[in-house]
Amino acid sequence: MDINIISLFPEMFNSPFGHSIIKRAMDKHIININFTNPRDFTYDRHHQADDVPFGGGAGMVLKPEPFFRAVASVKNTLPTNKNTRVILLSPEGKTFSQQTAKNLSTYDSLIFICGHYEGFDNRITENLAEDIISIGDYVLTGGELACMVIVDAVCRMLPDVLGSKESALTDSFYNGLLEYPQYTKPRYYKNMTVPDVLLSGNHQKIDEWRRIKALEKTRLKRPDLLDKINLSPEKLNAVKKLKNDCTKN
Ligand code: SAM
Repeated sequence: MDINIISLFPEMFNSPFGHSIIKRAMDKHIININFTNPRDFTYDRHHQADDVPFGGGAGMVLKPEPFFRAVASVKNTLPTNKNTRVILLSPEGKTFSQQTAKNLSTYDSLIFICGHYEGFDNRITENLAEDIISIGDYVLTGGELACMVIVDAVCRMLPDVLGSKESALTDSFYNGLLEYPQYTKPRYYKNMTVPDVLLSGNHQKIDEWRRIKALEKTRLKRPDLLDKINLSPEKLNAVKKLKNDCTKN
């Protein structure tokens, strides 16, 4: 997958993309990340990518020309037969989710547009991207951090990025539930123990315990998730039983 990031601060990506899973995915040529600085598409003496807002007010607004030119330039480098999606990062976008990560992972190339300062001139927001994505209801200083979060989550969905030990299949949200509780050595620590079933060697029982615990944890910590997924009759019964047990206690 080709990941193209349009940012006034490309250096911000050095550390997060220079380690762990993203670095390995780049080394294995599963992903290729390119940066384009909109400032390189400004033709005035000061290379100004922002300007004061019309109508007055605080801060500086990102100018349309450098961003339209930067996106056009990136698109020119991509083969026309590639399946490309342009994404603009903004608090006004649709909230990012695991499902969005799955959908984005099906494209050959992604183009991310990161804002800064007071944000984009509205002509950029309304015309330059196919998706507007927010990573939550709070305001960040720039789209760079949001872009890092999305790239990381999308890359985990790509084949061969995660080793079998890091499989995304049991991760929280992948199937709509939170992940079951995990334990490792030591078996006893400060009067806290590991559930016996995990040491039983009975994999059928372990799988069953994990299925129940994932449902239980989701019902306790994120009951809203249960309303969004289609549960199999077996899981639905397990949830009903958990609800009944809970009201009895
Ligand atoms: N004035 C803007 C507003 O109130 O909506 C906020 C601008 S913010 C300081 C600068 C840039 O950070 C935005 O243009 C956007 O690219 C990025 N950004 C901030 N919060 C974000 C969020 N929750 N999700 C995605 N991007 C965000």
